Amino acid sequence: MLIVKNLHVSYGAVRALRGIDVQVHAGEIVTLVGANGAGKSTLLNSVCGVCPASDGYIQYNGVRIDGNPTHLIARMGISQSPEGRRVFPRMTVEENLILGGQLAKFDVIRTRIEEQFSLFPRLRDRRAQRAGTLSGGEQQMLAIARALMSEPMLLLLDEPSLGLAPLISRSIFEAIVQINRDRGTTVLLVEQNAYQALRIAHRGYVMVNGKVELEGPASEVLQNPAVRSAYL
Ligand code: ATP
Repeated sequence: MLIVKNLHVSYGAVRALRGIDVQVHAGEIVTLVGANGAGKSTLLNSVCGVCPASDGYIQYNGVRIDGNPTHLIARMGISQSPEGRRVFPRMTVEENLILGGQLAKFDVIRTRIEEQFSLFPRLRDRRAQRAGTLSGGEQQMLAIARALMSEPMLLLLDEPSLGLAPLISRSIFEAIVQINRDRGTTVLLVEQNAYQALRIAHRGYVMVNGKVELEGPASEVLQNPAVRSAYL
């Protein structure tokens, strides 16, 4: 579904990605782990068309998408839940979801909101509450639910467990498995919580300084001694 080939991205003099190769097959959960600054968010932002590549390419369902604006990439079926959640704090839960459904016809938005509420029942209880007053875990649920409103084929999740208590973080990972299993959504997940994120993944990549250091079936990446000592 997604082929990232020899991708280079820089912010001025900072070379964030230095020739990275990543592939995601339809139906997979793929986890990217790596230290702060390894380039994980930059990779997701490049796939979304936010960070332009200086070399290499990104192919999605057989079509090159690098160089396309974000709104066209979204229309192709890619959606991101960004790092830090970035919900619209003064808008209600329901209004945030309606914005996530911008690409859908008006009459299906209501059905899609109900689908997100069945995935995250806590959001149903808080549908009229301003998003800025939700707990961190609830805001994360809302960020994921908002990304799902466009019914993406490929869901990009940037650090969904960041700053969450272990129990809440576990429920977020369970929701990711549910989204992948029940809706068939392909997931590219960036996480610092390497253990949980690799446990739910089919395959994993370890990024170091803008390059892929290691890749393989998630169970093998989890067992790798270097990964265990550095990230687990
Ligand atoms: P984290 O887990 O801390 O979010 P990351 O692996 O997602 O880290 P990126 O955020 O992709 O890493 O950053 C990769 C490199 O690019 C870092 O050296 C970072 O300082 C730099 N960088 C990221 N965004 C910008 C920016 N807008 N301007 C300048 N440099 C940036």
